[in-house]
Amino acid sequence: MVLLLVDLDNTLLDRASAFDLWATGFVRALGGACSEAAWIVDADRDGYEPRESLAGAIKERFGLDTAIADIVDELLFGHVDLMNLDTATANVLKNARDQGWKIAVVTNGTTAQQSLKIRTAGLESYVDAVVISESEGVKKPDPEIFRIAAGRLGLELTGGWMVGDHPTADIAGGKAAGLKTGWVSRGKKWADSSMIPNLAADTAAEVIEAVVSGVARPC
Ligand SMILES: [Mg+2]
Repeated sequence: MVLLLVDLDNTLLDRASAFDLWATGFVRALGGACSEAAWIVDADRDGYEPRESLAGAIKERFGLDTAIADIVDELLFGHVDLMNLDTATANVLKNARDQGWKIAVVTNGTTAQQSLKIRTAGLESYVDAVVISESEGVKKPDPEIFRIAAGRLGLELTGGWMVGDHPTADIAGGKAAGLKTGWVSRGKKWADSSMIPNLAADTAAEVIEAVVSGVARPC
């Protein structure tokens, strides 16, 4: 058995496209210009801006009477139905397990939101475990969350892989835990010359396929 840990947002599921669609609908419902959706997407920072802070900024910018807690709720759950597991990703996960890999999702976020994403996308049947930072009280890049994930699968970290899109949370964190790392670049160039992932490709499907087949795809 070989260990494969995989990030969720913008790795297995295309959060960016879903959030973009949600922001467009949100702004349209308020009668705002399309450029305002781009402002929300920018302020969201791929989900890394704390939700309360983003909710406050949205409330102020659009002059909303809505309570911050309700805007946070909308930010957490409004785009979840718009996230899908694409066929190519589903196929490589199935192939990896057929070849003896054990797979855990390792994701930062709230338990309610991340669990709902996994259920909605039908991801549960493609992985062996799900590790969510809020549930564990520790988040990426802390190596402890990768240890927890490996333990959940009954495997050691040694020889295992971490695949994800975030240079710090996924790649630096995975390396610090002693894992090999595959970077989902989403068309970007790797920027940190002091630390380089073992392989890189544009999509999770391509990275996981390369990891499983042992094909080198350096940055
Ligand atoms: Mg991610």
